[in-house]
Amino acid sequence: MPTITLKLELHNPTKVKQDMYERMTEMNTAFANWLLNHPELNKATSKIFKDFSSQKFPSAIVNQTIREAKSQKKNQKVKRFKKLWCCFNNQNVKVEKKGDFYTVAFPTLEKKIGVPVVTRPYQEAWLNRLINGTAKQGAAKLYKKRKKWYLAMAITFEVKPRHETKVMGVDLGLRYIAVASVGTKSLFFKGNRCAFVRRRYAALRRKLGKNKKPHMIRKIGNKESRWMKDQNHKISRQIVNFALANGVGVIRMEDLSGIRKRATSAKEAGRSLHSWAFHQLQTMIAYKADMAGIRVEWVKPTYTSQTCRCGHREKANRNGIRFRCQTCGYTLHADLNGAINIAKAISGFAA
Ligand SMILES: [Zn+2]
Repeated sequence: MPTITLKLELHNPTKVKQDMYERMTEMNTAFANWLLNHPELNKATSKIFKDFSSQKFPSAIVNQTIREAKSQKKNQKVKRFKKLWCCFNNQNVKVEKKGDFYTVAFPTLEKKIGVPVVTRPYQEAWLNRLINGTAKQGAAKLYKKRKKWYLAMAITFEVKPRHETKVMGVDLGLRYIAVASVGTKSLFFKGNRCAFVRRRYAALRRKLGKNKKPHMIRKIGNKESRWMKDQNHKISRQIVNFALANGVGVIRMEDLSGIRKRATSAKEAGRSLHSWAFHQLQTMIAYKADMAGIRVEWVKPTYTSQTCRCGHREKANRNGIRFRCQTCGYTLHADLNGAINIAKAISGFAA
């Protein structure tokens, strides 16, 4: 079942409330660290809290914190928590709609009452699904970011798997960011504009580097990655819509995780440079496919760009964006040929 996380901003909590949330976080962190050093953490139940403090603290939070401390100790990631936000399980958080706005109620040091949250339309759609029971609420976390308090809530929902059987391949590259192919249909996303923007930012960075303005460089880096993220959202949306419109049940993509180490060809070297952007795009496609009930499969990326439909494989088959088989003379757009080979999983599936 796919899961999403809704980050709901608490609407203008009073100073008193904010102080209370702060105190809860501090107490929770201290309690968690106390637990990590407790010799009988394994047997701990919520009753253990009274050994830690005589103050009142919601047992709903205590239970989550014990679980967190146990798993932390098992994995031995760090010896102590720097900060452990208060968490609640699904039974302890209640979402309600009151008139035009939504409230969330969760355990605090005071009586449990619903507090209003700031919502955007897509968040309201999810909250409505929780209320009408078509999506399920998971655990939630109360946390602060940039002086604002939020409740992050996990939501799981069921997706009916599609009965369609058509397989679509998606090839990622530099000249064309993405090429999708299913049957005789294809969809191309030209990379020029992305490359252009990347070059422009790179030039600007060099200039600022000479003038020693690291702060500005970081700012540009953020702006560039925001732009890229936005592009990837749009491209992945169009690819999944294209799949839905063409009766696709399976999307296949290359598993590029090993490429950085290998990089045997120019294409691979180029893709390694842009690997974070490609990885982001693949993640977005996989996520949106998942939400639509389309299965995602990962194939080995070897030889997908050099192999002909006749089976002949040779580096010289590919020349830039042109594919021409040295044996049978078959010609095609090189990235489209790649996408077709990915759909066929010619080198098998990734482990
Ligand atoms: Zn051929």
